[in-house]
Amino acid sequence: MTKTGFIGLGAIGYPVARHVARSGPTWVWNRTISKARSLAEETGANVANSPADLVAAVDVVFTCLPTTTEVFGMVKSVESWREGQLLVDTTSGDPGVSKDIAAWLDDKGVGYVDAPLSGGTSGAEAGKLTVMMGGEESWKGKAREACECFAAQITDVGPVGAGNAVKAVNQTLLAINIQAAGEGLAALTKLGVKPSVALEVINASSGRSNVTQNLIPERTITGDWLRTFRLSLLNKDVGIAVKLLGDTEVPGPATALAKVAMEAAMTFLDDDEADHVEAIKRTEAAAGVEIRG
Ligand code: NDP
Repeated sequence: MTKTGFIGLGAIGYPVARHVARSGPTWVWNRTISKARSLAEETGANVANSPADLVAAVDVVFTCLPTTTEVFGMVKSVESWREGQLLVDTTSGDPGVSKDIAAWLDDKGVGYVDAPLSGGTSGAEAGKLTVMMGGEESWKGKAREACECFAAQITDVGPVGAGNAVKAVNQTLLAINIQAAGEGLAALTKLGVKPSVALEVINASSGRSNVTQNLIPERTITGDWLRTFRLSLLNKDVGIAVKLLGDTEVPGPATALAKVAMEAAMTFLDDDEADHVEAIKRTEAAAGVEIRG
């Protein structure tokens, strides 16, 4: 049976690793080791003492870290990589760094697939994430098998880095929706339109999105600002999209504007733990209105 390792038990990594651990022999490592111990208690997974010990014990390694820079740092710090192993990186990362990691591992006969996730922490808990895979054909079958325990949809989107490129574009659409929906609903609230009534219309019309259908109703309208996905990570994702557009020579005023808006929200909130939907608080403050009810 395939032995699997999981490195990075954060907001999304933890519930994903729980599915992995319940589906076969698993080793886990996390910088704050108490999270690895907690997952081990829940699932019977083994706690590795270091990333190197984890790599030495398994066939397939998952990573779920903030950026591909941390992933590459971890990869290079490990000497125990063996020919035939596979790294499935679920981090939402930079396509260029993915290519560098893949080349570094390829020298050792180790495979690499970028496999960023979508569906949020609730999708992860439910084992219903979307996975977008970039990699060499010879490795993607094995990567797909490893992801099946936590995914509802796994799509092969192209060569190494393509998964991260698709993810960056998706995240930009998310950021634009948060910003534009917040602005529009602030104006409607000031005009005396109840935001939940406005959303009833929008969600039966062509402007609807995950933001208007789920995120704003669950968090903004209720004032119950959950923290599931840090704004700084969304800002990082939009930054990757800005770079992607530059690299492909596509003019990107909307993407650039989304980056400016996310940065401004981060400055306004001044809290690295702030959730991505809390970006709307900046719009509310500037408009002098709360989008509730
Ligand atoms: P979190 O900030 O919750 O967790 C980050 C994880 O990375 C923690 O396990 C943290 O360890 C570890 N870590 C951070 N820096 C280092 C380092 N230098 N060396 C080793 N470990 C490190 O992030 P998320 O789980 O939310 O996100 C992880 C990735 O998944 C990101 O790329 C994000 O964009 C993406 N993602 C997140 C989603 C979400 O809903 N949260 C949805 C889809 C994708 P420690 O516990 O010690 O802090």
